[in-house]
Amino acid sequence: MEFETKDISFNNLKREARIAYSETQIYDLIIIGGGITGVGIALDASLRGLRTLLVEKKDYASGTSSKSTKLIHGGLRYLKQLELGLVKETGLERAVAHNNIPHLVHPEKMLLPIVNKGTFGKFSAMLAITVYDKLAKVPEKDRKKSFSKKETQELEPLLNSQILKSSIQYSEYRTDDARLTIELIKAAIREGAEAFNYMEVEEFIYENNIVKGIICIDRVAQIKREFKGAQVVSAAGPWVDVLRTTNRSKVGKSLQLTKGVHIVLPREKLPLESSVYFDAFDGRMLFAIPRANVTYVGTSDTNYQGNKDKICCTLEDANYILKATNNMFGIKKLEVEDIISSWAGLRPLIHEDGKSPSELSRKDEIFISESKLISIAGGKLTGFRKMAERIVNLVIESNKNLEPKGCQTKFYKIHSDSFQDYNEFETYLEQIKKEYDDILHSKYDAWYFVTTYGKNAKTILNSARSNSEEGIKSLLSAEIEYCIQYESCYAPDDYFNRRSGRIYFEIDSVKSNLDFIIDIFSKRFAWKIEQIVEMKNLALSYLEEVEAIQ
Ligand SMILES: Cc1cc2nc3c(=O)[nH]c(=O)nc-3n(C[C@H](O)[C@H](O)[C@H](O)COP(=O)(O)OP(=O)(O)OC[C@H]3O[C@@H](n4cnc5c(N)ncnc54)[C@H](O)[C@@H]3O)c2cc1C
Repeated sequence: MEFETKDISFNNLKREARIAYSETQIYDLIIIGGGITGVGIALDASLRGLRTLLVEKKDYASGTSSKSTKLIHGGLRYLKQLELGLVKETGLERAVAHNNIPHLVHPEKMLLPIVNKGTFGKFSAMLAITVYDKLAKVPEKDRKKSFSKKETQELEPLLNSQILKSSIQYSEYRTDDARLTIELIKAAIREGAEAFNYMEVEEFIYENNIVKGIICIDRVAQIKREFKGAQVVSAAGPWVDVLRTTNRSKVGKSLQLTKGVHIVLPREKLPLESSVYFDAFDGRMLFAIPRANVTYVGTSDTNYQGNKDKICCTLEDANYILKATNNMFGIKKLEVEDIISSWAGLRPLIHEDGKSPSELSRKDEIFISESKLISIAGGKLTGFRKMAERIVNLVIESNKNLEPKGCQTKFYKIHSDSFQDYNEFETYLEQIKKEYDDILHSKYDAWYFVTTYGKNAKTILNSARSNSEEGIKSLLSAEIEYCIQYESCYAPDDYFNRRSGRIYFEIDSVKSNLDFIIDIFSKRFAWKIEQIVEMKNLALSYLEEVEAIQ
């Protein structure tokens, strides 16, 4: 299938040749972990001319970076913990991210209801949001607005009138975390980096007791691979301490993992007009966010010590979120059976004695071992660019052979064919709605394709129009083929989870077309029968994980 795109090929079809070449190289920088932190570093480093390799043990964004609340935010509640530095940095980064990738970072008005016995009273909320707006230099027109009870009910009729007193509306941004991660690694590749998914680091290579490379198990070919580099950085998120242990450098501060769950409800069960940041019943706060034909709600925050590779939404997690939601909104009581999907992620936070999960700092931390392994953990999705800048500064400072060059990412357009601004994005969306009306299915399809693929929406839709499939299959087949050729998609789950988000937000399109989806992959990668069976079982188990409350 041919695509007209400004993207460059980034795929697993010629994986062997790419790996063989990489094994002969000595990189300036090797990054472990293809979450937002790792891919942000890869882009910053390659833009500064560093020869960069990134390896990811599963798929890009398969860790925490596809399990967040999907907000680009400063974190209003961190003001209560006096994390002014963090709030200022991430608050300022919101507009940078919006300018650099407008189709994926959207302005969003957030409604904060003031309720009886809530976390915020009217005065404290006004004060906090004034500080928030000031720290983040929010333009006058976008600053907070305060509403009476009656006005609030007009804005969001579903709020429980028995506890509602008034509200404040403030500005945030929303994104798709996995898509942002994918776009960043594609940009890094465009700028000269190399990257492999399904490449798990098992050991380090040392020269004179200094880390000078990695030994991996290639999960596709099931063989060992070795890559060499002057500097290795671990951005392995919840697995950072596993690699510090491998490096025999886990001393001093360590990670504390906390689990956060989101549940997805059909939009008609919770038909919100606006995103809402609301009080649970225990002093914590949750987000309820309408998105196309669903509304998702989260998150919980509990200590976690289980399997980091299989994190599930338990009945307790689901009931916690449902109880808070039923309390805040005057709707027909929501039950566990109403949940259509869910996701659970781990926050890699830095342990502090005596603090509860919600009290732990969200600031990032850098560890440098005696053998010069640099590890970075903590932080927020929103802060990825500044975290990357700090790491690449460190790498350049510690290697005299590298030309000192400042960070280049502040005004860098991440997409290969970027919208110049939000107006252009909105015009393009309207155009797609009209031009492709004949092949689009639901009223959200145009929005979905443009917010997911930017200007590559046309690329994919043109291909869908000309292929031999019918109905939704023509869209799926064009989309999957694009993801295989340009987005390094290797397994069905890469596509329906982290490239498209369909498993959470359009789960029926995956369930009813699963064999069709697997068939496209099996033909493209020439899978043998036992691989097809294995991939189908894996896909079914992912579907179960997302659908079932354990
Ligand atoms: C419930 C929840 C909600 C959140 N909401 C928000 C939000 O709305 N906004 C916001 O800004 N932040 C949010 N965050 C925080 C944000 O999601 C995280 O800070 C961020 O995703 C962490 O990214 P990371 O790249 O450091 O880790 P990860 O995304 O986990 O990436 C680490 C990667 O390393 C790989 N890896 C591990 N070991 C190896 C190995 N041996 N070899 C190769 N690869 C390896 C893993 O497979 C993984 O893909 C939220 C977090 C949670 C849990």
